[in-house]
Amino acid sequence: MAPGPRAFDDIRPPEPDLIDDCVHCGFCLPTCPTYLLWGREMDSPRGRIVLMKSGHDDPGPISAAQVDAWDNCLGCMACVTACPSGVQYDKLIEDTRGQVERSEARTRRERLRRRAIFALFTHPGRLRALVPLVALQRRLGPERLLGGRLPRLQAMMRLAPAAGMRAAVRRLPEVTAARGTRRGTAGFLQGCVQRVFFGDVNRATVAVLAAEGWEVHAPRLPRCCGALQLHTGDGGEARELARRTIEAFKRFDVVVVNAAGCGSALKDYGHLFRDDPRWRPRAEAFSARVRDVSELLAEHEPAAVRHPLPLSVAYHDACHLAHAQGVRAQPRALLRGIPSLELREPAEWEICCGSAGVYNLLKPEPAAELGRRKVANLVATGTDLVAAANPGCALQIAAHAAELGHELRVLHPMELLHASIEGRMP
Ligand code: SF4
Ligand code: SF4
Repeated sequence: MAPGPRAFDDIRPPEPDLIDDCVHCGFCLPTCPTYLLWGREMDSPRGRIVLMKSGHDDPGPISAAQVDAWDNCLGCMACVTACPSGVQYDKLIEDTRGQVERSEARTRRERLRRRAIFALFTHPGRLRALVPLVALQRRLGPERLLGGRLPRLQAMMRLAPAAGMRAAVRRLPEVTAARGTRRGTAGFLQGCVQRVFFGDVNRATVAVLAAEGWEVHAPRLPRCCGALQLHTGDGGEARELARRTIEAFKRFDVVVVNAAGCGSALKDYGHLFRDDPRWRPRAEAFSARVRDVSELLAEHEPAAVRHPLPLSVAYHDACHLAHAQGVRAQPRALLRGIPSLELREPAEWEICCGSAGVYNLLKPEPAAELGRRKVANLVATGTDLVAAANPGCALQIAAHAAELGHELRVLHPMELLHASIEGRMP
């Protein structure tokens, strides 16, 4: 007989104390993108926490309604920023997703679909193979390329930027020497999506770090830090990739990240290994050395001269930087440190753009609605240049700007800083 759906099991369930921290005040509701879209309690942080509590109190099977409510969550962590009671929703949803994936609450088909998406996105080699297909799709149109089959793959390719094959395979040097007074060694995490589709962002980041006195080491392995797996409930794979990442970066004074989703995962390794007495201390010590590149640069006086960039730039807060890591002031301060650059603030900074890892592939309709809303707010600032520190956000904003007929250019703050240091327009 086929196994029925399992109840919440006793492997790493969400911690009851963390669930009980929620006092149901509702302050988080206005910042939750799904509550904003649908106005339903089940699609709010408070409603999702109530469902977690019922999962604990009632040892019955996980219901389809529970799975749906948790799957609808973007994991944007706007509720964490908004909550006056300090509810750690990030940890709660991470553990809840683990429970869902370990149960039989999903159909086999859905499970396979998810596995296929993760198998592609966390492997730079497989993503590179996609680059010529993306270029061909842009030339021929998706229907002619695949005859209308594989709609998910087509959606994915529509979101992918037109990276050149040469840029996608170009590698960073293993070591880049510091310029001027040496500040120490920085291990730079290349990322998976970032290194294939945003190689220029990685090169700009390394150049800025070197100009600021850091000797930059860019290990090629591991291929991925486990962020996507961690944020979608695959704790086993996330822990395996985390162990390799900790090992690969153990020699460096600091570990530097320029992709918000990866940075928040690296800082969360301590929690990931909380039940592992051997790895927990290593993971916590590792996380303490992790910095988003803007954090690291803002901790030190600038060394390299900034040349003027007479530009207006709208700053987009990536959720995993602003909400998950609490990093909002540092990238703004770095951009304001560029002479002649005017920084503009879009409305609804706290609302997710709908990218959220692979949410825009798993839940394309609400993701697109949020993408269009974000683009409208960015366009309303009156500038056509956006600074965003996460590859997913850059893809989402560019794709929906193009859909709405807006010419929005999205750059990483490090690309702007690099151009300023080199004295050229980006
Ligand atoms: S993480 Fe984002 S989508 Fe999920 S409940 Fe919190 S605010 Fe809502
Ligand atoms: S998560 Fe925080 S803000 Fe939201 S209802 Fe609970 S206590 Fe209130």
